[in-house]
Amino acid sequence: MYSVTDPATGVLIEEVANSSEEEVRAAIGRVAAAYGGWRGRSVGERAAIVGRAAEGFAARADELAAIMTQEMGKRVNEGRGEVGIVVDIFRYYAEHGPALLADEPLEVKGGQAVITKGPIGALLGIMPWNFPVYQVARFVAPNLVLGNTILLKHASICPRSARAIEEILHAAGVPVDVYVNTYASSRQIPGILADERIMGVSLTGSEQAGISVAAEAGKNLKKTVLELGGSDPLIILDTADMDETVNATATARMRNCGQSCNAPKRIIVLADLYDEYVDRLTKRVAEYYVPGDPADPGTKLPPLASIAAADEVAAQVAKAVDQGATLRAGGHRIGPGAYLEATVLTDVRPGMDAYYEEIFGPVAIVYRAADEDDAVHLANDTPFGLGASVWGTDPTRLRRVADRIDAGMVYFNRAGGSQADLPFGGIKRSGLGRELGAAGIEEFMNKKSIRL
Ligand code: NAP
Repeated sequence: MYSVTDPATGVLIEEVANSSEEEVRAAIGRVAAAYGGWRGRSVGERAAIVGRAAEGFAARADELAAIMTQEMGKRVNEGRGEVGIVVDIFRYYAEHGPALLADEPLEVKGGQAVITKGPIGALLGIMPWNFPVYQVARFVAPNLVLGNTILLKHASICPRSARAIEEILHAAGVPVDVYVNTYASSRQIPGILADERIMGVSLTGSEQAGISVAAEAGKNLKKTVLELGGSDPLIILDTADMDETVNATATARMRNCGQSCNAPKRIIVLADLYDEYVDRLTKRVAEYYVPGDPADPGTKLPPLASIAAADEVAAQVAKAVDQGATLRAGGHRIGPGAYLEATVLTDVRPGMDAYYEEIFGPVAIVYRAADEDDAVHLANDTPFGLGASVWGTDPTRLRRVADRIDAGMVYFNRAGGSQADLPFGGIKRSGLGRELGAAGIEEFMNKKSIRL
């Protein structure tokens, strides 16, 4: 069952029945049958449609933000900001797609060749609730320009976002069978991946979902992109302005109520700054103790996406404390909605669960590093490898540390974020492949070698 439950109150707003097996098969049939016509259009035509979609998202930004607030408790201002990035992504691929898909001439031994860049067919997208519009955009915009068709299974708490996205794309001129929503359950995914009409799958979600989807896709020899969890390190080497560093890092950890894959979940501070940083961060996060209505732009602490999610994060915090961590701030569940006070933990050590797992909520863990080598060791001592950020005043030192970090992305003096023209993705248990930028249009591409 797909359903919308207001996380601020726990009140059920809407239920949507799962697609039946017949409906899933019919949806696969539609996207597979539409492929020939869609790939047959010129790149310019497809790019123009994607460009119109950008304007459709811009025009409905307030409505999309309100839907996200209802479905998963996103603060309304953050929802509008998310739609802004979505517009950028659709514009980026509309503008740059044709050049990214141009033939590539190649000198080869004894003559000439050309690499053409075409689509591969109908794809399945499986998307999470934490950025209900942005995650879909990263997958859909490049693949529509490329000429693939798309069957989209959104998170089961986001049926309204799913419907609105489908409407916007169809209104922009994407043929109705080129982009099709399915309300399949995750139990139906293996059957979809076994269907020979589906050529690839992109999943953004948890490590567990990634393992299941990768296994099914592997059995069926289907190309996969996996954008999974993270426990990104944020390393503070030195600072010219501690207030600014504390503000920026606290804001980054609290963005989307802590539910971002690339949020700085582990803050690693060199020993000489550690006590001052922890002290100031602890005071700073107190402003995230008061629960508020996420539809009110003045709210600092919105709910998490669901009561189950808030209970799970609170349980992770309680377990960390049980295993020896120190609770420096927050940690209390606030009901009846899905609220959890902003939380700061220290003294998390190897062997404790919190040292290894992703905490998907408003919880910062601060580590003391003896020196630069120790900071790099702590940063890399994780199963994940999505993003990282390094903070300091010396560019040479920042670059030296960045080069030693095992992650798909590193940012200097800013925590995470995302932009249309910068590839996004991780290594290790954070996934396979890249989205956004030029790299993002290549994942489901047939780079065909033609020997002239
Ligand atoms: P999730 O529970 O894994 O759900 C993501 C999507 O996968 C949903 O559509 C879900 O469907 C589906 N799903 C779940 N289990 C599945 C299975 N066994 N087989 C097939 N599909 C399955 O993740 P979430 O809680 O929505 O999202 C949070 C996670 O996503 C975090 O770990 C976060 O770090 C990660 N994330 C990563 C990125 C990135 O770019 N690397 C970006 C955003 C989020 P149902 O809703 O029907 O269960």
